[in-house]
Amino acid sequence: MTREQLLNTSVDAKPKLEEPSYPSNCLEFTRHVVHPPSSNDHANTSKISLTIIVVGAGLGGLTTAIALKQSGHQVTVYEQARELSEIGAGIQVPSNSTRILSKLGIEEYLKPFATEPEAIVIRRWQNGKVIGNTRLIPDFVDGFNAPYYVVHRADFLSALHKKALDEGIEINLGSKVSDYHPIKGQIILEDGNIHGADLVVAADGIHSVARKLVLGGQDMVFQQSGLAAYRTIVDVNRMRDDPEVSWVLDRPSMNVWVGDAGHVMTYTIGSGKTFNFVLAHPDDTDPSTWGQKDNISDMKNHFVGWDPVVTKIIGMVDSTLKWPLMNGSTLNRWVLGNLLILGDAAHPMLPYMSQGAAMAVEDGAALARALSKIQSPAQLQEALGIFEKVRIKRTGHMHQASLLNSQLWHIPDGPWQEARDAAMEPEVKGVPFAHSPNQWSDPATQMWCYGYDSEKEIDKAWEDFQRE
Ligand SMILES: Cc1cc2nc3c(=O)[nH]c(=O)nc-3n(C[C@H](O)[C@H](O)[C@H](O)COP(=O)(O)OP(=O)(O)OC[C@H]3O[C@@H](n4cnc5c(N)ncnc54)[C@H](O)[C@@H]3O)c2cc1C
Repeated sequence: MTREQLLNTSVDAKPKLEEPSYPSNCLEFTRHVVHPPSSNDHANTSKISLTIIVVGAGLGGLTTAIALKQSGHQVTVYEQARELSEIGAGIQVPSNSTRILSKLGIEEYLKPFATEPEAIVIRRWQNGKVIGNTRLIPDFVDGFNAPYYVVHRADFLSALHKKALDEGIEINLGSKVSDYHPIKGQIILEDGNIHGADLVVAADGIHSVARKLVLGGQDMVFQQSGLAAYRTIVDVNRMRDDPEVSWVLDRPSMNVWVGDAGHVMTYTIGSGKTFNFVLAHPDDTDPSTWGQKDNISDMKNHFVGWDPVVTKIIGMVDSTLKWPLMNGSTLNRWVLGNLLILGDAAHPMLPYMSQGAAMAVEDGAALARALSKIQSPAQLQEALGIFEKVRIKRTGHMHQASLLNSQLWHIPDGPWQEARDAAMEPEVKGVPFAHSPNQWSDPATQMWCYGYDSEKEIDKAWEDFQRE
């Protein structure tokens, strides 16, 4: 008789494992158990079908629309732009995001355009010396069960758009929402037309109109970050012709030069055809006063004395946009009546963890999961309350982590910078370490950031709510 028969149990049955309430990663292996499909694989399928309006067809709005549609809801999207496009150049799509995109069937639309960097290499501003190193391949795929991509923003958006259309989602372009009726669940379009639904999800970005309504008329307070970024792409052929900089293109990696009050983030996208170049620098002037015409000369002045590799690449830039780096604040509510905000509308943050859009992707998956719990529209507020609680906590933490990164990277030369760099030496040497000021590498931060499962967090919060 087998052990299985003796115990009258199946080897597939989940063993009793109490979820620890202390911070621990010891149960991570349970995510990798291979077992036959179970009813839980359809845990996102909703018990009721709601009508849902999504305002904004950005990265957040489209992912949310897809997640909700796949759960069985009737979703209609309203977007002010007549054509979908993304300004800026590349975007990092970290493992916590790709895991969700894969589950939603979006990864196959994205993968043909995505590059998978081998590592994130942190370099000293002055000479490019390697001071930190996060191995993405194979560590992130092995550790977090999902790849880490970089991709052109326009390709990411068009992958989502295509998938949304293939799902049969109605997307109304050229439809600007000028007002909302939160309690009735209605949107009022600029042309005066009114549309209603069981739920309105506003993913209308950093300058959200819906946010102010949700907050009772007083908008979010933005803190001055004192930083701005030049965002541009560089002609790789010019870079290849220069042996001093061509090595940057040799391997698909991200390279970040960090220094006093500034940093330079680089990576290739579009199968190595495009070089993404973002330069953060101090600027506390009012963005409404910015003209874009002196950008190239200003950029050169800001980075005088930096590694000649950086200054040479700056010399190859033909044009660049200067972008304000806005630091929002953590809100205490995202919901008013049947109106909900998510994505940048709810949690604008500094881009230093490269997680803003990833948070919006998590929001979409979490919302679909929360709505899958309810049996009737009367329970809608309960689901929204759970969603709001879980997501405010997660995005608030990410907000903090992004701010901390700006402080860690921009430490001026001196004893604190030396201690920071010394603490990253083990990861550069490839020897084991328990902590690192590089938050991409620090084991505890890494697990919290990339191992996070937004659906599981909703499940836990829902169970707690049921017990209360
Ligand atoms: C320099 C920089 C680098 C970044 N790098 C990364 C990164 O590497 N990884 C990452 O995950 N994130 C990154 N981010 C953050 C990321 O870009 C944003 O978090 C993300 O794009 C937000 O998506 P969203 O859909 O919430 O908002 P948006 O992209 O702003 O989309 C909002 C949409 O709503 C529409 N809209 C607005 N108002 C209305 C209206 N009234 N009616 C109808 N439609 C409306 C808009 O036209 C738009 O299409 C970065 C940000 C910056 C500034």
